Amino acid sequence: MYAVRRFAVRRSSGFLRIYRMFEGIIVFLDPVLRLVGYGRLERPFAFLERNFKGLLFDCKMCGQCVLSSTGMSCPMNCPKTLRNGPCGGVRPGGFCEVKPEMRCVWVEAWDGASRMPEGLERIRVVQPPVNRELEGSSSWLRVAREKAASLRQMRETPDPSRHMLARAFRRARQIEPAAAPIAAEPNAALAEHSVSERTAVFTKGESAAGKNNGGGNAKKKG
Ligand code: SF4
Repeated sequence: MYAVRRFAVRRSSGFLRIYRMFEGIIVFLDPVLRLVGYGRLERPFAFLERNFKGLLFDCKMCGQCVLSSTGMSCPMNCPKTLRNGPCGGVRPGGFCEVKPEMRCVWVEAWDGASRMPEGLERIRVVQPPVNRELEGSSSWLRVAREKAASLRQMRETPDPSRHMLARAFRRARQIEPAAAPIAAEPNAALAEHSVSERTAVFTKGESAAGKNNGGGNAKKKG
């Protein structure tokens, strides 16, 4: 298994491509999957994922897969289950402090990430702590379901300008969804009085500054 895991890291770019294709198929099948019911599909998907990823990556089914951000090296194989880089105990040659016969998961992750497009950018993104409640569930299904839901939302958005903006800045939206929001704004944010209240802060500031300057000039003149 260890040898297969290391092989997967060396082929990280190819595995990422395969995963993206697979994810696209599940997203495409969203209408069918919704008809069957995502809840019903959870167990068969988790079973497939456990076996497939267990074989290739020694997956521990944490339920929040980050393989595409860690060069296809599963961080749950770190004896300390560190999700954001190595501890301070990496041995010379890149070996693990706790299991000296094993290469540090994060040394492998850096290697895998450097072989992937944008891998070194992605590996620097700080990951949240693992939510243990999701352990054993299918990451595949969750990610695909969320992507399909957001695409559906985009299609059903009544405001076409939002839709266009989100499409034009697809990458920006991926990294920072608030940069090109597609959700409808809450009424409080759009209410006219709210806008004038907010701008009043600046206009008051400007007029106060104008008075101060004017006053200063008048004194100078005098
Ligand atoms: S990050 Fe989680 S889901 Fe992904 S391979 Fe590792 S244990 Fe499995």
